[in-house]
Amino acid sequence: MADTEAASVDVVVLGGGSGGYACALRAAELGKSVVLIEKDLLGGTCLHRGCIPTKALLHAAEVADTIREAGRFGVRAAYESIDLPGVHTYKDGVVARLHKGLQGLVSSRGVRLVEGEGRLVDAHTVEVAGERITGAHVVLATGSRALSLPSAPIGGRIMTSDQALGLAEVPARAIVLGGGVIGVEFASALRSFGAEVTVLEALPRLVAAEDEAVSKQLERAFRKRGIVAKTGVRMESAADTGSGVSVTLEGGETLEADLLLVAVGRGPVTEGMGFEEAGVTLDRGFVVADERCRTSAEGVYAVGDIVRGLQLAHRGFAQGIFVAEEIAGLDPRPIDESGIPRVTYCDPEIASVGLTEAQAREDGEVETVEYNLGGNGKSQILGTTGFVKLVRRKDGPIVGIHMVGARMGEQIGEAQLIYNWEAFPEDVADLVHAHPTQNEALGEAHLALAGKPLHAHN
Ligand SMILES: Cc1cc2nc3c(=O)[nH]c(=O)nc-3n(C[C@H](O)[C@H](O)[C@H](O)COP(=O)(O)OP(=O)(O)OC[C@H]3O[C@@H](n4cnc5c(N)ncnc54)[C@H](O)[C@@H]3O)c2cc1C
Repeated sequence: MADTEAASVDVVVLGGGSGGYACALRAAELGKSVVLIEKDLLGGTCLHRGCIPTKALLHAAEVADTIREAGRFGVRAAYESIDLPGVHTYKDGVVARLHKGLQGLVSSRGVRLVEGEGRLVDAHTVEVAGERITGAHVVLATGSRALSLPSAPIGGRIMTSDQALGLAEVPARAIVLGGGVIGVEFASALRSFGAEVTVLEALPRLVAAEDEAVSKQLERAFRKRGIVAKTGVRMESAADTGSGVSVTLEGGETLEADLLLVAVGRGPVTEGMGFEEAGVTLDRGFVVADERCRTSAEGVYAVGDIVRGLQLAHRGFAQGIFVAEEIAGLDPRPIDESGIPRVTYCDPEIASVGLTEAQAREDGEVETVEYNLGGNGKSQILGTTGFVKLVRRKDGPIVGIHMVGARMGEQIGEAQLIYNWEAFPEDVADLVHAHPTQNEALGEAHLALAGKPLHAHN
């Protein structure tokens, strides 16, 4: 497309991460002319510094554990060590292949990719390197960045997930500040790679956004794996001593390690890009958007991590698709945030959708069941422990599903259908689940909640 034609298009998308590129692809599919502006790498955080590289690390970690534990399964294998450069080659290869595929997809759909840093000039115009691109609609999708703390300045041995993804060697001792999703995933991988790991969390439990029972099970499993979790503690300061890090907790306790990974959350990337000047309301940096992803500026939408809510790639995809369809006049259904599936890929994995028991109880009476994976054949074969917990409205539909155990992330597909279709336990209990699979555990939990437990001890 020539520059003159591209100067005015149907949709201008600022930011080529999960939310932005999904919107661009869907809008192009719907016949819209689209410009996608990206200042760094197409694919954004998820592809280059988030979901994909971390899951590759966690897979390498699983392979290491499998070899270490091979004797349990009667297989003789000797674990030697982790070759971290080799792990990076594998991880980077996965990212590079997906990146190439995405670049091909964007160009084959006729989306014009503009490389450079964009700035919103007004509700219909984005400026990139002196070029003004106008669109009938502008979609903001500039994503998020790792937060840090003044008491733990990033540099050297004090790092965020961005630097931790490229570690040259496995640290003998690591401290992870933050027991949320990113913190526990790194803690899990580092432990499997052979590090002594301590997780510090200010809240009373790890993965505090999950159901309380899930946090307890994870803490138990981490303890068994030798990961130390200190919850309800606050870090006062941290210092890179040159040969290590020294972390002081409130109360005076000092911990020493080889590195400190700061995983205290992610903040929106919205500063200095002209958003507020163009009439887009921000709330502590986050773009304020309604359930139709509309911002306060007419014709300007926002998707992904810049909008307060679950910071997950598939939420960004869904919002991006939603906005493209909204612009095309298809009147899509708003996204139910609690129907967005959540998976944490540590060992053991956590997968959940819907409300926690505590959240559900705020709105009335509930019934719950916890099906122990001890009764599930495939989980026994894999040698994992955990459970499937269901929360239903009293005599009503399922409103929350919470699972923990090796590989349980793979069960989230059926779980999210059950939640989003507002199924009753009795509906799911009638469906036949294949034996022996871990998926069966989901079926068994519904059998139990429907009052006809099979492989479940009361
Ligand atoms: C370590 C880690 C692990 C994660 N694991 C998972 C996971 O397993 N599953 C999951 O669902 N989510 C995961 N996430 C979260 C996921 O990566 C984000 O939710 C997702 O990337 C958000 O997409 P986005 O489009 O909003 O933003 P981003 O992916 O951050 O993309 C924003 C893009 O905008 C560009 N940009 C910013 N400003 C400008 C500008 N002015 N001009 C041009 N371009 C600009 C940026 O360069 C970037 O490419 C993880 C995140 C991290 C950090």
